[in-house]
Amino acid sequence: MNSYQGKTYHVVTYGCQMNVHESEKIRGVLSRLGMNEIDDIESADVVVFNTCCIREGAEDRAYNNVMALRPIKEKNPEKIIILCGCMPQQKEGKYKLKERLPFVDIIIGTHNVNQLDQYLLKYAINRERIYDIIEKPIGSLDNNNCIRDDKLNAYVNIIYGCNKFCTYCIVPYVRGREKSRTAQDIYNEVKDLVQNQGYKYITLLGQNVNSYGKDLKDKMSFSELLTYLCTIEGDFKIKFMTSHPMDLGDDLIKVMKKEDKVAKALHLPVQSGSSRILAKMNRHYDIKHYMSIIKKLKHAIPNIALSTDIIVGFPGETEKDFNQTLKLLKKVKYDQVFAFMYSKRTGTPAATFEGQIDDKEKNIRLNKLLRLQKLIQKDQIKKYFNKTYDCLIRHINGVAVGITDGGKEVYIPNYKYVNQNYFAKVKIENIRNHKLSGVIK
Ligand code: SF4
Repeated sequence: MNSYQGKTYHVVTYGCQMNVHESEKIRGVLSRLGMNEIDDIESADVVVFNTCCIREGAEDRAYNNVMALRPIKEKNPEKIIILCGCMPQQKEGKYKLKERLPFVDIIIGTHNVNQLDQYLLKYAINRERIYDIIEKPIGSLDNNNCIRDDKLNAYVNIIYGCNKFCTYCIVPYVRGREKSRTAQDIYNEVKDLVQNQGYKYITLLGQNVNSYGKDLKDKMSFSELLTYLCTIEGDFKIKFMTSHPMDLGDDLIKVMKKEDKVAKALHLPVQSGSSRILAKMNRHYDIKHYMSIIKKLKHAIPNIALSTDIIVGFPGETEKDFNQTLKLLKKVKYDQVFAFMYSKRTGTPAATFEGQIDDKEKNIRLNKLLRLQKLIQKDQIKKYFNKTYDCLIRHINGVAVGITDGGKEVYIPNYKYVNQNYFAKVKIENIRNHKLSGVIK
């Protein structure tokens, strides 16, 4: 029995899938202390802000939302507010959190969030504010029972940190160097999720999954890990993110093609269509290399769904560079593009580069790119006609719907529905009003 037994908590998450999953683990920790999750941030006894600092907007949002809790904390000093994650881990963050958020009770970073229960127990005894940012990780939150919201897709971390140091990116500074989990650990978690908890998708997570295993004593490549996980019995698919083009080799393409359990979808961030800008970004590849991977992927897996990340307005990006990015989109014809304006991150090399582009221009370029991608996606729908896709069959609003690996919905009219959630091949026979319909083969 501890003093948190029966109390309530609420977790607010900012940022990427890694953070979403970290919050699932944080919820597991709080529940094990005997606490119950509630939706109402104002009445929760403990509120955790799991923050992100990849872009300025994410930081501003988190800071403003924490500030909004100040009057509530003043009325109810017993309420415990915790700030953790990437924002406090920054050396030169925009906000001086320790000084500017004196009403926040516990501030910890990315490397010690796995000690959250210990910090809470310490706080319950001393009632003294805790500010503890450490430089190196002291374990992880893996192998704890995390609380997942999604009942179909489960995130599983395979590698933490990043060694790449892209010049615009703050991640290596706040998440540290690459550290892989052992294959056995991952295997056990995936097996449990599939066989005991009924998950249909497993999404393996890492800043750069292709770097998996390089730091392990018993070296194992990412493609070998995938092959190993595919030996788990069950009706499920494996997705993964994020891949780095420099580390994506032919071995991975081979495994993606061969293994039915590996989803035929790939998120491969290009960031820019200009090799000159890619060099300034320290991405370690040029467009020729990137396109050679795309060509191999499309050749090996004709039905593959491709998505990417793009940064517009990187320092020094000219109209010509930007047009090369547009050209690349037309050439690759991605199924989805996640595009962002370059966001200056203090402490990264690009923040001091000459040729910073103003927000107005960045915005113009972003909108132009998004308009183009919308047209491409509209046109892309044609490619589905008469093709057969592996789909997860679901029952949505009384209708059977197949979901492709790339997330496209295919209606299956007149299908006598038997089970919920299983994989089957669906042939697409109709496209009307940008909606797909087909039959189970
Ligand atoms: S690969 Fe580059 S963009 Fe991705 S996390 Fe590492 S440094 Fe950041």
